[in-house]
Amino acid sequence: MTKKINNKLLKLINYYSLINYNLIYDKHSINRYKKIKSELLGNKGIQLEKLEESIKDIKNCDLKKNSKHIVFADGNPNSKVMIIGEAPGANEDEEGYPFEGRAGKLLDKMLQSINLDRRNVYITNVVNYKPPENRKPTEQEIARYFPFLIQHIEIINPKILILLGSTALNTIVGNKEVISKARGKWINKKIGNCSTSIIASFHPAFLIRQQEQKKMSWIDLKMIREKISLLKIKIEK
Ligand code: URA
Repeated sequence: MTKKINNKLLKLINYYSLINYNLIYDKHSINRYKKIKSELLGNKGIQLEKLEESIKDIKNCDLKKNSKHIVFADGNPNSKVMIIGEAPGANEDEEGYPFEGRAGKLLDKMLQSINLDRRNVYITNVVNYKPPENRKPTEQEIARYFPFLIQHIEIINPKILILLGSTALNTIVGNKEVISKARGKWINKKIGNCSTSIIASFHPAFLIRQQEQKKMSWIDLKMIREKISLLKIKIEK
């Protein structure tokens, strides 16, 4: 009997050693990069903590009232590549990190295809609390979070800013252009005191629905890879 149990246990141990157990036990997206902000060197950590606290202090916001957690950011604050999505959904609200669900898994794969991951990019959203029923944030909601988003960009000071989807595009570039026309073009822009190269691309949630657009997204990803090399951006591994 004991021998039988031992054999079973051994088989189980062998099985788990064949698989990356982090992927089994970690509910978060692949390659989560956790770092306590206060442990960061320099002023950036303090500035980010202050910014997060001011967002938590927002008054009379229905998004905040109906959310469990603030979804502030994920990734490496020292990265020179910043990604902005639209808004947290239910998974992100549950976990407190951006891009947790299916769209997040696809984003991880997209990043992986150009040798990036959450250890070497920084990710946030246009608004930091989940809109109800997975709807887009309204213009008024976007306007409320806009000054915080600008501060966020100034603190991170990215050389490359990737805008995923039309909400991020229209909020940052300030136009009504549709993403299918605006994607895949570099725009040099000063945002607050940060001068950066911006590129818009399809949102991963859209790519899940419109798989045939993945080829266009791949063109944009290659442009990002080339720009990283052109600007000699050091990618931490
Ligand atoms: N979609 C987004 O735009 N952001 C998230 O964090 C999750 C899904």
